[in-house]
Amino acid sequence: MFDALYLEKSGDGFSATRRLLTDDQLAAATPDADVTVRIEYSTINFKDALALANRSPVVRRWPMVPGIDGAGVVESSAHPRFAAGDRVILNGWGVGESHWGCLAQRARLKGDWLVAMPADIDARRAMAIGTAGYTAMLCVMALERRGVVPAQGEILVTGAAGGVGSVAIALLARLGFRVVASTGRANEADYLRALGAAEVIDRAALSAPGKPLQKERWAGVIDAVGSHTLANACAQVRYRGTVAACGLAGGMDLPATVAPFILRGVALIGVDSVMCPMEDRREAWKRLAGDLDPAQIERITTVVGLDDALRLAPEMLAGKVRGRVAVDVNR
Ligand code: NDP
Repeated sequence: MFDALYLEKSGDGFSATRRLLTDDQLAAATPDADVTVRIEYSTINFKDALALANRSPVVRRWPMVPGIDGAGVVESSAHPRFAAGDRVILNGWGVGESHWGCLAQRARLKGDWLVAMPADIDARRAMAIGTAGYTAMLCVMALERRGVVPAQGEILVTGAAGGVGSVAIALLARLGFRVVASTGRANEADYLRALGAAEVIDRAALSAPGKPLQKERWAGVIDAVGSHTLANACAQVRYRGTVAACGLAGGMDLPATVAPFILRGVALIGVDSVMCPMEDRREAWKRLAGDLDPAQIERITTVVGLDDALRLAPEMLAGKVRGRVAVDVNR
């Protein structure tokens, strides 16, 4: 038996509970898995919160064990790259959506999905980073690959006090960029400055409809918000600057014009963590293990147990959770 969160749906009814499941139930639900992992830590990302609160169609199979992220130790493996005792990280691939996930003490996963845990981090740190942090790293890599360097100017980070935003600020500041953090929570300004933000701006400055071309300011943008915020960010990017878009916390729409792209050569790069190829995942995790100050990760992380994960989901969707939440699945 193992402890897990469990999502069920029948008719119009939905329930999210903590319960004991059997290994037989897990095996029956995951017939194509080839690695069994003893999960030590999972986390709550925005998508997990949506699933736990049944707020959007994240879960595509019922019943479901949620948890798009997990870190732990391989118990048994039929996959050539992994053996019992290996420490591994799982992010995405539809886990916690269409395949039973990691808000549980045990998961059966595909070896092709797993990243070997870098030697200098443990399961707790890996899940303090989680998909949010790994996505922030993918966004930084997207800017770097288009040649964005600190000498070109400031980087705007939106949704700054959230998980993606917090890790993005810490990463960019450590790489030498001048970071401007956009937040709706003025009371988190000290937190954002401690992470490395040089300036904190009110997100209201970006969230209303704006002109197609505005005063050029940003060399690059990491946007977790979408909608008017993303449109305004694009309109404020300097000639040949780059925007990495990964989120929709403010809306799924993009009410923009082509002006910044065709008149200023701005690039809008989409960042997806779920199906991201293994080569980029490995690079991202190697960089996260090396480029992120452990003290900064501690600063942004709250560790909770499985029951708290259920309680925190609506708070996260209301934009009230700061930084990252790691879940100790044995608590
Ligand atoms: P969090 O909930 O931790 O942070 C989101 C932040 O967005 C909030 O803290 C808040 O920041 C801001 N925000 C919330 N609501 C609004 C609003 N209505 N208008 C403007 N800003 C708002 O989530 P994550 O950081 O984990 O994820 C951020 C986004 O990125 C989500 O949309 C998520 O789905 C997406 N994502 C995408 C991934 C991908 O693969 N593309 C992977 C991971 C996440 P503040 O209080 O500072 O204003």
